[in-house]
Formats: sequence, C-alpha cells, structure tokens
Amino acid sequence: MMASMPNTTGEFQYMARFVFITGGVVSSLGKGLASAALGALLQARGYSVRLRKLDPYLNVDPGTMSPFEHGEVFVTDDGAETDLDLGHYERFTGVAARNTDSISSGRIYSNVLEKERRGDYLGKTIQVIPHVTNEIKDFISIGEDEVDFMLCEIGGTVGDIEGLPFFEAIRQFSQDKPRGQCIFMHLTLLPFINASGELKTKPTQHSVKELRSIGLAPDILVCRSEGPIPEKEREKLALFCNVRKDSVIAAQDLKSIYEAPLAYHREGLDQAVLDAFGIAPAPKPDLVRWNDVADRIYNPEGEVKVAIVGKYTQLEDAYKSIAEALTHGGMANRVKVNVEWVDAEIFDKEDPAPYLQGFHAILVPGGFGERGTEGKIKAATFAREHKIPYLGICLGMQMAVIEAARNVAGLKDAGSEEFDHEAGEKRFEPVVYHLKEWVQGNRTVARKVTDDKGGTMRLGAYSASLGEGTKVAEVYGTTSIEERHRHRYEVDIRYREQLEKAGLKFSGMSPDGRLPEIVEWEDHPWFIGVQFHPELKSKPFEPHPLFADFVRAAKDTSRLV
Ligand code: GLN
Repeated sequence: MMASMPNTTGEFQYMARFVFITGGVVSSLGKGLASAALGALLQARGYSVRLRKLDPYLNVDPGTMSPFEHGEVFVTDDGAETDLDLGHYERFTGVAARNTDSISSGRIYSNVLEKERRGDYLGKTIQVIPHVTNEIKDFISIGEDEVDFMLCEIGGTVGDIEGLPFFEAIRQFSQDKPRGQCIFMHLTLLPFINASGELKTKPTQHSVKELRSIGLAPDILVCRSEGPIPEKEREKLALFCNVRKDSVIAAQDLKSIYEAPLAYHREGLDQAVLDAFGIAPAPKPDLVRWNDVADRIYNPEGEVKVAIVGKYTQLEDAYKSIAEALTHGGMANRVKVNVEWVDAEIFDKEDPAPYLQGFHAILVPGGFGERGTEGKIKAATFAREHKIPYLGICLGMQMAVIEAARNVAGLKDAGSEEFDHEAGEKRFEPVVYHLKEWVQGNRTVARKVTDDKGGTMRLGAYSASLGEGTKVAEVYGTTSIEERHRHRYEVDIRYREQLEKAGLKFSGMSPDGRLPEIVEWEDHPWFIGVQFHPELKSKPFEPHPLFADFVRAAKDTSRLV
C-alpha cells in the first residue's frame, strides 16, 4: 500500500496515482493488453489498481454496436455494457470492472446535454472546454480515493478528431493534481523495413510531436516491434521524443497474451512507471502467478478440439471472452484447446454430422436474432444424440431447450418469441418468452416490448440456486452462485415439468424460483445450458469452473476417440 498524502486542509487521504495510456501511429497495437499487463505488474508489487477505458466514439455505450464491427460487449457486475478491453483488464487483474470504468463521448455528451436541459449550467453557453472536459475529469476521478493506481486508457489514436476533448481533459487533469501524480504512457509502432533491415522510428517521432502539440509529453514510450529494439534506435527515440532511454519499452509479438506481464516486466515497464513517479525503493514483484500461467500455456500435455457453432464467426473478437475462457479451461487441464469456428447457418440447410464429427466438445454461444438458430438447434441435437460435451451459453441454452422440447418432449412447434412476434396466434409454443418484469436484488424491474433497444435487457450479476446433487452443483462445488446476464428472453417455467419428464433437468433457478438459469441432460456425460455468461468471469489464474470442467469432459472424449 502506498503512503497517504495530506490534502490542502492538512488531513490525510488516499489518493491514486494516474497513468494515462494513449496510442499513436496505428490502431490495434495492443494498448488494452499493455494497460492490463501493467495493472497486473503493479499488483504483483503489492499495489491496488483500477483500470478505466475512455472511448471517443459517440455511442452512449457499446451495447447496440454490432459484434461484427466492435467485437464482444463486455458486461460488468453492475450491469454496464462495455468495451471488450474491460474484459482484458479483469482477466489480468481480477478486479471486477464497474459501470464507471467505461466512458464514451456519447455518454459524456448525453450527461452534459441532460444537465443543460435541467438548467444546471445556469444559462451559461455550453462549450467543450470547460463543460465537456469537466465531465470527463469528473469521471476519471471517481473512486480515486480507493486505489494506489488508476490506469486510464484512451481509445483510438492521437490525432483523431473525436479524441481531442479526452486528450485535453487529461492534460488539464494532470495540472489540477499535485506535481508527480500523473504520468503519460504512449504506445506506438516501430515498422520494420525489410529492404534496409531497419526498425523505423520516424512514425513514433511524429506521433509524439502530435501529442506534444496538444500539451501532452509522454513519460514512457511502449513501442510495438517484431524484434528487440537495437541500442541505436532506442537512443534515437529517447533523444527525439524526449523520454529517458530506460523508459523506451519494447513490446514484441508474443505467442500468448498471457505472457505479456512477464514480457513487460523483462523489458522494465513496471520499473519505468515506478521511476517516473519517483517511487524508490520499489517493492519487489511477486510473479509466481504469471510464471505458473506461462508454464501452463506454453507446456500443454495434450490437445482437444472444440467447435464453437455461432453467428459472428468472421470476427473472433465477437466471442473474445469465450475464446479466452476456453484457453483458461485448457490451462486448468494442461491441454491446448484448439477452437474451430463453425457458422451455424450452414446447418440451416445441411446435416451437421460431417462438420461436427471429430470435435471433442461443442459450444453454442450467445447471440441475437433468428439467423442461424435452426442450425444451433441441430448442433444441440447432434451433441445430445452423440453424447458429445455441450455447453450452451445464453442463446445456446435457449436453443438447447427448444431442441429438447421439439425432439424429446413432443412439443413439435416449440420456439422463441424472439423469432416470432405472433405468439398470440398460437402458431408455436413459446418455450422461450420475452421477459417483461423480474426481480433484481430487492427491486422489481419492468420493461415494455416497445422500449428502446439500448440497455433494456436483464443485465449484470444475478444469483442462482443450484439443485442439490446436480451436475452443476458438483462442477461449481456450491449451490449458490452469482453470474452475469445479458438477454431479453427467458425459458418459460411453465414447461419445466414436461421437459424434466423428458430428462432435461432445470438444475439452476433464480432465487425466487421463477427464472430457469441452468438446464442439464441427466443421461448425458456433459450437457449443460446456462442463461448467463460464465465466460465473463474466467481468469487465467482462476479458470471458471464450468469452462474447466467442460474442457475436462472434452479431454475425456478425446481419449475415447
Ligand atoms: N437473444 C437472446 C435473448 O435476448 C439471447 C441473448 C444472448 O445470447 N446474450 O434472450
């Protein structure tokens, strides 16, 4: 823990040190990963951290953005739909992200405009400086008295028009704070030119020049490069970008992201950050956790093949947390999990058998809309009949229930209200229905079908009670769990008896017994459907029990074939 500091009135209080992380040259350099790895390294030195993402786009939150375009929507315990970088932050630090850790321009502007309409600004002209920048600064400082370090990543790259208010806000913020309480870390690319065999520093120099023109001077440069940075280039970067030589950190390509904390430590990133804050002597890091993680990821003792039958299979980021949770499940079992993405739509017309044979387990993830759902149902039939481990997540659970209803319980017309808005005409059995009222903690939440699309789902952490003696209770090792949700529709409890008679057990329920949370086939080695998203809580050093056991079941299957 860091020593507390006196405030202006002489009282002692806990004040975070701030690291602002910006990017330059090109996007997709791994800024989120660098931030997350730095968080993990500061923790390894005994400090508490919180990571925050400031996104310049104008959407209020990523909830309504297409997974094809933006990747997965990461949901927090307190029900915020956030950027997938928050998933990285949680996976590396284990610190549960909050609603206030993901801030977009859209949210900032909508707050400012709401205040303007309410008359909070007392008739003043509303401007980017100071109104928008103040709103950003207020967000940045939320919870600053709770941790040793606050790491704030600014989305996009320096020079983007949308990013300007954020850059201006962090500039002001560092001036508002006592000297030495904020540092700036800038991530860039050193391209390698084959013809001359050189790493080029010029784009980085330009990027830093751009930063300095808006009043920000980086203390640390993290440079993405294919190989190590030669001494000559390092000196050049230090000289032209006005940083210390030992604050030029190489970020080389890694085989696994989970080596990032160790790799950044070898390069001296955490030391450079502590030096920049003048913290000496620096506490020694304890890297046992990350050494174990690297050992498990780089030295597997076997391999399993898992098919993910989904809709957004062209962009792997659309199922980021699921892919990561499967990797964690592999680490728990010391096997490498080879994931293959199978487009569910293929099975709308074709028999899944030739595509799914040979896989040791099948996972059907979450999704929205009707496209590909008949294919997902067929994948569930295949897994049930061939006794292949099946994990259905959210929509993947709903499809497994429809499959059971149609093909085992005799409800031939079973379907979901999500795909047919004429349920009233009794054209199908709404086994999955639109939920309009439910209980969260001790309050009732109500929604109308016509409500806005943004933020109208059952979102965030909810508890569930697991039946004694069920497979899931065994897997979790407890009968009381809490998991994160993101959906509008629910399996209808009215079909419970009929489905249980057919062998599909409702093994997890909401505490009030009204909402089915988990189903499992009794006479199947491993067939579980969950209404929530367990992947969001899995970590490399703490694999989620469902994923760990799912991969164990896959490992067992691999031994049989
Ligand atoms: N579309 C389904 C629902 O809204 C499932 C959502 C999901 O898989 N996240 O209930």
